Amino acid sequence: MTDVDPPVRPAPGEHAEEGTADGVKRGKVLVVGLDGVRFDRLTRSPFRTPVLHGLIAAGTHGTSLLPYGEVDGQAEGGPSTSMAYTDSGPGWSSVLTGVWPDRHGVTGNDFTGADYSRYPDFLSRAVAARPGLRTAAAVSWAELVHRGTLGPAIGRRVLHDGEAEGYEAADRLVADTAAHWLTHGDPDAVFVYFGAADEAGHATGPLSPAYDNALLAQDAHLGRLLDAIGSRRSQPGRADEHWTVLVTTDHGHLDTGGHGGDTRAEREVFVILAEPGVPGGTLLDTPRLIDLAPTVLDRLGVPVDPAWGLQGSVLLRSAQLGPVTAVDF
Ligand SMILES: [Zn+2]
Repeated sequence: MTDVDPPVRPAPGEHAEEGTADGVKRGKVLVVGLDGVRFDRLTRSPFRTPVLHGLIAAGTHGTSLLPYGEVDGQAEGGPSTSMAYTDSGPGWSSVLTGVWPDRHGVTGNDFTGADYSRYPDFLSRAVAARPGLRTAAAVSWAELVHRGTLGPAIGRRVLHDGEAEGYEAADRLVADTAAHWLTHGDPDAVFVYFGAADEAGHATGPLSPAYDNALLAQDAHLGRLLDAIGSRRSQPGRADEHWTVLVTTDHGHLDTGGHGGDTRAEREVFVILAEPGVPGGTLLDTPRLIDLAPTVLDRLGVPVDPAWGLQGSVLLRSAQLGPVTAVDF
């Protein structure tokens, strides 16, 4: 494990502003990223991914196509800035920054041209806007930390390196870390990344038993995190926390395994959103990866400044939500 940042110990009195003057609790957000997960494989059997099926039933979800994908990922000279590979670098950059590759600049896994100083991740934006917010990220893909996709302003960045430790083991440690934060800490916004399904997809394809097994493992990891959030309700002073849970992916996979190109199987991505007030089992209209960042900021009460140049839209603005009732994660 690489604990990239020292533990942040809040000063006495910090965070005393929980519960605003009008009695409305500040929202908290968990974003779970599943690398290279095809929605059709994720949803084909409730027995294979029971937690995700439960989250879909309790919340809202939808799919969309990435607006990029270089044919075969083999274009001479690589993709232009407006045409990225359907790869992890561009995908997670879009999720975290709220802009497409033409702005964040990442068109492939070489991260050449990344402009995270102008388009930082949503956790960094949240902290900049509200320095008291507690942010944390736990990931198994080292590039997200080493390339600065997750910026140094984030309160905690923990890396369990999947390339070094194996993604199955690294993902489990990522889940351990995030579950610990959610159980014993008081984070406001958490980003978690799991990489084993993508690794299995590359090795044996997304139609393989190994891919199914990876999905099942990630489903169990997600279940631990949702249980941790659910158990917070029974803790003193936390019963009325308003948690928003988002689950997404960065790209799909060819039936034979692999991605980077422009087929539907590679370009289709999904967003699942569950929170109190969202009607269960409903559909989101073509949610895009760039919609996650503004949605997270919205739930954290951070207004999006037009000067930031974010290209995404808030999914289900709080004002559009129905009566707040507890979601049984
Ligand atoms: Zn990926």
